[in-house]
Amino acid sequence: METPLVSGSLFSTMHWLHWLIILLSLVLTLTAWKITSNQIAEKAASSYQRETTKIIDLVLERMQRYEDALWASAAYINSIGGDISFEEWKVYAEAIGIEKKYPGINGIGIIHYLASEDLQSYLAEQRKTRSKYAVHPPHDKTEYWPISYIIPLAGNEKAVGLDMAHESNRHSAARLARDSGSAQITGPIELVQDEQHTPGFLFFAPFYGSHQIPQDTQERRERFVGLVYAPFVVRNLVDGVLSRDFRNVTFSIHDAEEEIFNENAIGESEYDPNPLFQSSASIELYGRTWTFQFRSSKEFKSDTSSGQPTTILIGGITVDVLLLVLFLLISRNSRRNALQARKLLQAQQKIEQANEELTHFNYRTSHDLVAPLKTIRGYVDLAQYELKDQNTAGISDCLSRIEKQAQRLEKLVEDLLDLCRIDNQNVAADIVDPNEIFDFVSSTLQSLWQEKDVTVSLENKLGSPFRSQPVRIRQILENLVSNGIKYSDPEKLTRWVKVTFVRVNKDWIRIEVADNGIGIPGEDREKIFEMFFRAGNNSEFGSGLGNYLVKKHVAALHGKIDYRSSDEGTCFTVDIPAGSRE
Ligand code: ADP
Repeated sequence: METPLVSGSLFSTMHWLHWLIILLSLVLTLTAWKITSNQIAEKAASSYQRETTKIIDLVLERMQRYEDALWASAAYINSIGGDISFEEWKVYAEAIGIEKKYPGINGIGIIHYLASEDLQSYLAEQRKTRSKYAVHPPHDKTEYWPISYIIPLAGNEKAVGLDMAHESNRHSAARLARDSGSAQITGPIELVQDEQHTPGFLFFAPFYGSHQIPQDTQERRERFVGLVYAPFVVRNLVDGVLSRDFRNVTFSIHDAEEEIFNENAIGESEYDPNPLFQSSASIELYGRTWTFQFRSSKEFKSDTSSGQPTTILIGGITVDVLLLVLFLLISRNSRRNALQARKLLQAQQKIEQANEELTHFNYRTSHDLVAPLKTIRGYVDLAQYELKDQNTAGISDCLSRIEKQAQRLEKLVEDLLDLCRIDNQNVAADIVDPNEIFDFVSSTLQSLWQEKDVTVSLENKLGSPFRSQPVRIRQILENLVSNGIKYSDPEKLTRWVKVTFVRVNKDWIRIEVADNGIGIPGEDREKIFEMFFRAGNNSEFGSGLGNYLVKKHVAALHGKIDYRSSDEGTCFTVDIPAGSRE
């Protein structure tokens, strides 16, 4: 039978080494997939980390540059006597090239500190060069912190004269710068010059009229002249240092609770609602705490997402599947080869067995043929002596013995002929009528059952004939019934052989042949279907081929044969398929 390519049994016949190779290959694939995925995730994480650190570093660096510019300006003022006029400041500030060198700040200016009694003289001084100069807006403080100059003027006009003291955020940062001697920034404010009204800051650095910053707060207050200052808008600061094109992270900045910059908003082009990474970081910045909220951008996702792990996984699994198919094919072939080898072995064993049987058959046949002939010759010699002696009774006895041997020889030759025909009998299926067959067998064996005084009867429980091979069934019955008669028990008052036909089910017919004869000894149970076997119960009657022939016929009909036997008698049971097989 053709072995299916893929079946449970085929999988189970695959060599353990094949499974091991597939398992190792699978483990290798999964490991490679996992490692690549991890590497890509790690790379993405470190790239994100790098970007966020870079943003903070750039902001700090930029603020540091602004601070440097402020301190350089303060140093310049101190070097020219501790204060500076509008003209001098204009020349200086234009010379440092704010727009080019310090992108992000709107200008650089001077704030003077004035006690209330100094305001008028200060105004008079300023109006010498700028007649319309005024300090604004009005307030009720006793000190003034007006922006005296700012360069460039264009765009910063509204800032000129603006008094830091009018508003607490600017005022407190200015005072802190003065008192601490350090650069400070204000909390978020809206710059007067910013048309877009976005959050901005003022960056202050104090100057005291001397190169050294006074040691203590009291002294700093006493010697304080003013502040160099730079206004900047956070949006410009970020645009100046952190161009969108060079980063894959969006962020927002908060000063305390107030938002001063935000790219993390729906509608922003690079905003990713489900970012791969997000984090926050706070930095201390000139008296303020800025908190950054970072999120990886959409571009970050597309840049870091890689098809490599999936390719490895799909590729690896494809190789594994191909390996499996290959191994299955190999297994199927080796299984076929093994099956064929087994078949060959079985065929060889059959041939050897047949050879053995043939040798045995030849030996037994020659022996069984020669034995009666020798006996006949012996009786012929004896008959000749009796003839010389004119002993008619002796001659008659010899002749009857010769006849018996001749009959035995005849039966043996008949059985041998049956045996030769049995395998080649290509008997067509036909209707089997049990009554008809029984009548035939009974009449064939008539002289035998009469001689042995045995009653042979039939019980047909079938009701209707069935379909099988009548010739084989007749020979089965003939042999079994003749054995029943031959091995009848002379000790018993009545001797009988009963044949029964009965239906087991719709597919099977049972034929029983029972007798009340001498029975088959238990030790011969397995052997009675062997060729030439004759049990020790009574061997003078037969050739030892009858049951062997029966077994062969039953096998040809695809049936089964069994028997049970005791001192009471023997019953053979033959089950044959009815109707279905030809
Ligand atoms: P034979 O030609 O000797 O009868 P068989 O093959 O027909 O050869 O039977 C084998 C042996 O089985 C017989 O020699 C006999 O000893 C035993 N045997 C077969 N049928 C019966 C039976 N109905 N009762 C008792 N013994 C039997």
